[in-house]
Amino acid sequence: MFQTTIIREAPTEGVGLHTGVFGHIRLVPAPADTGIVFRRTDLDNFPIEAQGHNVAKVSYATSLMKQGVLLSTTEHLLAAIYSCGIDNIYIDIDSIEVPILDGSAEPFMKMLEQTGVRKLRRKRRYLKVLKPLEVAEADPGKTGQFRRIGIYPADEFRVRCYVDFPHPLVGQQEVEMVVSPATFRHLLARARTFCFERDIAPLREMGLIRGGSLENAIVLTSDSVMNGPLRFPDEFGRHKALDLIGDLALAGLPLLARVEAHKAGHSLHTQLVSRLLADPTLWTITTDETPHAEQTMASAALSPVPAAD
Ligand SMILES: [Zn+2]
Repeated sequence: MFQTTIIREAPTEGVGLHTGVFGHIRLVPAPADTGIVFRRTDLDNFPIEAQGHNVAKVSYATSLMKQGVLLSTTEHLLAAIYSCGIDNIYIDIDSIEVPILDGSAEPFMKMLEQTGVRKLRRKRRYLKVLKPLEVAEADPGKTGQFRRIGIYPADEFRVRCYVDFPHPLVGQQEVEMVVSPATFRHLLARARTFCFERDIAPLREMGLIRGGSLENAIVLTSDSVMNGPLRFPDEFGRHKALDLIGDLALAGLPLLARVEAHKAGHSLHTQLVSRLLADPTLWTITTDETPHAEQTMASAALSPVPAAD
């Protein structure tokens, strides 16, 4: 398997969910061994690598910071790029936050369909997990219960994501899949960001969701949804899995691992990545494709598209 980049450039623009700042993005091809790199075009192309060591404070979105230069809400764009197997790309951006667009990763997938993907003459390097790592924290809402995330050895990149929100339209939802361009596009890409109506005023007071609207986030009322219809009955669980993949992209290389997230969020996702990268006894970097991984990729590409329910 060889490294990839995109064939041609593609632009988009829009408002940032949390800052409300309008920005322009351009996806640009990059040479082998570049990785995924944001470039702040408003700051002399200052580069911010999409890697664990650049993770900044994380709460309602994932932000990167390098030498005081911030870039917010990277997760949906990174989920699309990472799931599509794009190893090398520049993301040129002239603002502090990635545009939220419709709240899903679908507009980014459409951009990547425009750019195309091509192979480079350099072998792809994988981060292969050798030993398990788990991170947990107390669930603030429920005494004695925990939110947790774990990463385990596997010959393919697989995620399982479980959510549980006490709401008639959400409840317990679970998504499990081998991550490939096809599974991401059909199962996760269209799932949108969501928030609860009761959280809107407190979030605004914290200076967040200044760009939020009914066009870019599902808003849940106490017993229904303000701006339906949903794109999937379990759109919430699917969106959390999308967020998880976008945060795992910060590993900096394609993963050969299984990741299980139980009521986790950006904070636990990025803690897992940081702790994993900080302990080189837990993984190895390999250019070897196992026969199993190859077989899985081939069968995923050939199998019929799962119906969106
Ligand atoms: Zn999200």
